[in-house]
Amino acid sequence: MSTTTPQKFEFQAEIKQLLDIVIHSLYTEKEIFVRELVSNAADALEKFRHLQLTEKNIFEDSRELEINVTTDDKAKTITIQDAGVGMTRGELVENLGTIAHSGSKSFLKALGEGGAKNSNLIGQFGVGFYSAFMVAKSVKVYTHSWKQDEPGHVWSSDGSGSYEIEPAADQNRGAKIVIELKDDCAEFSQDWKIKEIVERYSAFVSFPINLNGKRVNTIQALWLRSKNEIKEEEYTEFYKFQSHAYDEPRLRLHFSADAPLTINALLFVPKENTEKLGMSRLEPAVSLYCRKVLIDAKPKDILPEWLRFLKGVVDSEDLPLNISRETMQDKSLIEKLNKVITKRFLKFLDEESKNRPEAYAEFYAEFGHFLKEGAALDFTHKESLTKLLRFESSLTEKGKTTSLTDYVTRLGSEQKEIYYLNGPNRASIESGPYLEGLKARNLEVLFCYEPVDEYVMNNVREFDGKKLTAADHADLKLSDLPKPDGALGEDAVKSLTTWLKATLGERVAEVKTSDRLVDSPVLALNADKFTSPHMRRMMKAMNKEGADSPVRVNLEINPRHAVIKRLFETHTANPERATLVAEQLLDNALIGAGLLDDTTAMVARLNKLLESV
Ligand code: ADP
Ligand code: MG
Repeated sequence: MSTTTPQKFEFQAEIKQLLDIVIHSLYTEKEIFVRELVSNAADALEKFRHLQLTEKNIFEDSRELEINVTTDDKAKTITIQDAGVGMTRGELVENLGTIAHSGSKSFLKALGEGGAKNSNLIGQFGVGFYSAFMVAKSVKVYTHSWKQDEPGHVWSSDGSGSYEIEPAADQNRGAKIVIELKDDCAEFSQDWKIKEIVERYSAFVSFPINLNGKRVNTIQALWLRSKNEIKEEEYTEFYKFQSHAYDEPRLRLHFSADAPLTINALLFVPKENTEKLGMSRLEPAVSLYCRKVLIDAKPKDILPEWLRFLKGVVDSEDLPLNISRETMQDKSLIEKLNKVITKRFLKFLDEESKNRPEAYAEFYAEFGHFLKEGAALDFTHKESLTKLLRFESSLTEKGKTTSLTDYVTRLGSEQKEIYYLNGPNRASIESGPYLEGLKARNLEVLFCYEPVDEYVMNNVREFDGKKLTAADHADLKLSDLPKPDGALGEDAVKSLTTWLKATLGERVAEVKTSDRLVDSPVLALNADKFTSPHMRRMMKAMNKEGADSPVRVNLEINPRHAVIKRLFETHTANPERATLVAEQLLDNALIGAGLLDDTTAMVARLNKLLESV
């Protein structure tokens, strides 16, 4: 067989099939051909760098190990040149004429399995070299192998079933791929267009990429470098570049893992939580790379929803092949990736909370919402997330918080529950009637200030085997306290509660004495699950039925309190006045519970009560 004259070859049958799909596909992201050819150039350079160390007889020249892309919008061409290993004649046939390439192979397999000509898969599989034919009238590959004694060649094809190989004198080492663009793809001969594409997909390729003589990629793939070599400023610069951010990162996690997947990741928590500022819901923003090449800038499933505030990069060598199988069959690989990263990030937050409690507190103030969302909704990570929650409590100072873990260490052995109270702020919880009974028994109570807390506590349900219990809940059982002197007797209480129930009518479900009141005369407890103030607000917001129905509560009275004792005396002596007092006491209790919607009736009544002063 002559090797000095042009020779024509038929593509292998599978390649013909592949080319047919690639050429006729309506795949919209044709631009990925740039990513593929630049990756090939980088691979070839990498191989060459390696050979330099191990081989003699190398075809050396003075050129830098870089990738040069040139565009010519008059001729409508784009050229991608590298000084890598190049290809011999045999390798041209082998590599560009038969299907050795694993990505292309699995692409075809997936098509076979999927049946339809699902050209959407092209982008995910990266059909490699052949993607050039999405945009090319013709492709020419000028090449000289790294092997000194091999001659140069040019490979050419229009993608229609055959290709030619011809000897070519005076070739540089490496490969130069010249694409003559189809008329409707002429945009890929524009400098700005290619700049955009290279910056998007190939910004972190290790070799310099020059576009029409200008360096395009200046930022390194920091995630693959060793941590102790990286300067703080480099991290910040990387963050700003990669996340299109203007702020400085608040927290950073740089880690690698080998099992069950090879992962290098660099994750950032931004300074500000823009969702909290009222901006729209955040989109996933941790990009997925395979060996420094972008696979997906906004992959949906590599992190759980509640980690949508993270920015950065995850790079896994195991990906490109498997990711395709994943879309065809199961999600197991992405799930694995998700699991590893999430676990690692949770561990990181836990360490931060211990090693840098102040930074953690600031992070929590800004991003705690996401942890709460996760604790409430993500069953897999509920426990680790619940450990990361922080609340003020009846034992902390104002502004200082405790974890549930610490709360549990302070529990007496007989305490089986973790108590919490909802309220708009510390002062309102401390002055309300619900805290005093627990305080009198030395029980710590967590203070929940955010509307969402009630929902979170309800969903989390328990921690470390202890039930999370709302201290204003009707079912709360507390131990007996020694009865102070001077309380109303049993008969008196019975007569007063019966009278109160009759007098207050529909507004109360039940009236009884309280085991949790110390300093206040009365308190109101939820008669049903819709009675909590947050629930009512939520139902109103959702226009739910029942949201406007009058509140109905269980009223508890404090038989030791002067007002109650006085009421007992008046309720027979002056029933009219006692009724006003009873109604006012109920309203007071509703205010304490955050349940009094309309105060007009109350003001009128107070005025009436004041008349008799
Ligand atoms: P992959 O890169 O996944 O192997 P491609 O279809 O992109 O698949 O490329 C097929 C093969 O062609 C490569 O494995 C490589 O051997 C060869 N090749 C492609 N581009 C170059 C290049 N610029 N220099 C040297 N060899 C190349
Ligand atoms: Mg390739």
